[in-house]
Amino acid sequence: MSEVLIVGGGIMGLWAALMAGRAGIETRLLERKAIGAGASGGLLGALMPHMPDRWNAKKQFQFDALVSLEGEIARLEAETGFSAGYRRSGRIMPLGREHLRNIARGHEQDAEQHWFAGNRRFHWHVSDAGTDGWPAADAAPFGLVHDTLAARVAPRKLLATLRAALSAFPHVQIEEGVDVSSIDPRRGRLSLLDGREVTFGHCVLAAGAASFPLIDRLAERPQATSGCAVKGQAALLRADVDPAAPIIFTDGLYIVPHETGHVAVGSTSENQFVEPFSTDAQLDALIERAAALAPLLRNAPVIERWAGLRPKAAGREPMVGRHPGCERLSVLTGGFKVSFGMAHILAGCVIDEFAGRRSVELPQSFRCETHIAALQ
Ligand SMILES: Cc1cc2nc3c(=O)[nH]c(=O)nc-3n(C[C@H](O)[C@H](O)[C@H](O)COP(=O)(O)OP(=O)(O)OC[C@H]3O[C@@H](n4cnc5c(N)ncnc54)[C@H](O)[C@@H]3O)c2cc1C
Repeated sequence: MSEVLIVGGGIMGLWAALMAGRAGIETRLLERKAIGAGASGGLLGALMPHMPDRWNAKKQFQFDALVSLEGEIARLEAETGFSAGYRRSGRIMPLGREHLRNIARGHEQDAEQHWFAGNRRFHWHVSDAGTDGWPAADAAPFGLVHDTLAARVAPRKLLATLRAALSAFPHVQIEEGVDVSSIDPRRGRLSLLDGREVTFGHCVLAAGAASFPLIDRLAERPQATSGCAVKGQAALLRADVDPAAPIIFTDGLYIVPHETGHVAVGSTSENQFVEPFSTDAQLDALIERAAALAPLLRNAPVIERWAGLRPKAAGREPMVGRHPGCERLSVLTGGFKVSFGMAHILAGCVIDEFAGRRSVELPQSFRCETHIAALQ
């Protein structure tokens, strides 16, 4: 019997396995298909901060996570010799209307006040300087914002790096092709689709959007569903773009330059869908918008089209920590659009809580107990 059994081999599950591995905990990770088969195996990897205004504990938590991820990834890369394709390349947001410029000026001040860690400072510059074609000048008639905190990572490379780091721990096992059909945390057992049963000391449920039905089945009384899947589509283009160029972001459109001339474009956000993993005309429209915004992408070949399901908790925030009704179950899901920037810290909280160690303070709205209480 493993001390900690993790369900799900996405970004959340892998960080949890790493944190458990580092703590010397006997760990087994079960993944129903293959590592990265879920939302984490996508293309974008944008690591975007919240707006710097109306600062609160939740924004501070995410800020600290975005700052600390850089060191975490550097450590992993040094340990494994792999590259996770991380770069703090910043983000550009074109200002299309005059009043947005005034708002952005306010945010510039807010960032000065809140975006620092020790002697490191990050900025939200409002700029009138030319755009140099990234984006097209006519997309930014009132200048642009350049935020120096945003970063990007190559999702699949990060998963491969985490996996390589995990291979150094003889007490951590990863099993792919193992589909969990139900969890009985009171008895410390779960059932697999193939009929087998597996026992555990403690279970960490990190099955992405598939976590919610498993959580709902634990309810003793009828209650609202704990979360849902939101489909997203994205594409990867091959273009002659400097890998150090900042992310362009406007009205839900992300253009993310990666290494080796790859540029990711995304993402749709679909609450209703019939085909979860196929792409369609909505993605074509995004690619067209991207090419209009960034002329360097015109005629760039599309080398991959991809769709996945984001885990969105009913409470909209990440859903993390001990399940209130089940001492032996922790939940680690609901990262929705921001999992990559926070998964390392959230996973650390879950493993620290299991190990009875002091940890960083989770925002109350992230706690599993807060989510479950709101459903009743
Ligand atoms: C188009 C798109 C663009 C995105 N862009 C960004 C971005 O730029 N930045 C960002 O931070 N986030 C982004 N996201 C969101 C991000 O991808 C997700 O929030 C994140 O991947 C969720 O990670 P996870 O580990 O919780 O879930 P997943 O990656 O879905 O992992 C869950 C794993 O559990 C496995 N599993 C499920 N059920 C079972 C079971 N019963 N038994 C065993 N295993 C099971 C699945 O196969 C899967 O591998 C994007 C998402 C999409 C779709």
